[in-house]
Amino acid sequence: MTNVIDGNAVAADVRAGLEDGVAALKDAGVTPRLATVLMNDKQASATYVSMKQRDCEELGMGAEDVRIDPDAPAEELFDTVADLNEREDVHGILVQDPTPDHVDDERVTAAVAPRKDVDAFHPENVGKLVGGNPRFKPCTPHGIQKLLEHEGIDPEGKDVVIVGRSKIVGKPLANLLFQKAPGANATVTLCHSRTRDLAAHTRRADIVVSAVGIEDLIDASMLSEGCVVIDVGINRVDADNEKGYRLTGDVDFESAKETASAITPVPGGVGPMTRAMLLYNTVKAAGEQHDVDVPLP
Ligand code: NAD
Repeated sequence: MTNVIDGNAVAADVRAGLEDGVAALKDAGVTPRLATVLMNDKQASATYVSMKQRDCEELGMGAEDVRIDPDAPAEELFDTVADLNEREDVHGILVQDPTPDHVDDERVTAAVAPRKDVDAFHPENVGKLVGGNPRFKPCTPHGIQKLLEHEGIDPEGKDVVIVGRSKIVGKPLANLLFQKAPGANATVTLCHSRTRDLAAHTRRADIVVSAVGIEDLIDASMLSEGCVVIDVGINRVDADNEKGYRLTGDVDFESAKETASAITPVPGGVGPMTRAMLLYNTVKAAGEQHDVDVPLP
């Protein structure tokens, strides 16, 4: 029978596993604290920020919700981040995407102090990941690695085909999974919009990860019998319900689940893991900044 991987349950395990770390920090007089910085007026971004705030509070962590007028000068954002970098009671900083057009994305990424960069997007942290010695693992790739570990799926020696080469999912996941390290050691292929014959790649994969954002991009005809499917995509499709839409991934779940041995649903697969790993990185960051030995799940 196909294993439909319950991301909510695995994320709850990770959160429970972080409770000891939070307690160890509090014993040392430290409350791990995440600051989120929002500089846009998109409803979806505000929702993401409030979920991250709530996640922190539920775990007894501190959370600071900084809002900046999207019409304010870019320097207001950079000054805010500089202040947060200096504060001893803030251990993780996350600038919610997207920022307005007049703010240089590259400069934002480089502005967050690497030791507080819980998204792991700073060039120094990207370099450490590529070099095989990550300070923080980026949240979505790390969440996928944890899901595989939890389900007893070891990528070692397996053919992993990742579809999508973004800097937040595809590229760091490739870097994570081909490292010589536990939970990795895979042979990784990174496919993208210019890949010729995507199906030829996915059909020979032991593990397929899709992070594209196109509904039904991948169906059973593109998969090998018994493969593992990790669907990162989040797409809104019209639906006859109260909201007027429902969420779906990149994979045609109904057909793929007949062929795959394990598959993540959307919603309830990778998404909750991304949120849990942000907490993980914030607890880790607090431990390192205060020299407290923090147990991590
Ligand atoms: P993105 O939107 O920045 O880029 C999409 C990628 O898909 C590009 O690398 C592009 O080359 C590739 N692509 C486009 N069309 C393709 C095609 N026909 N065939 C193969 N590749 C193609 O990527 P992103 O920011 O990683 O987001 C991807 C999806 O994952 C979105 O739906 C996003 O909402 C979702 N997402 C989910 C989580 C989560 O926690 N579940 C986290 C991040 C992103």
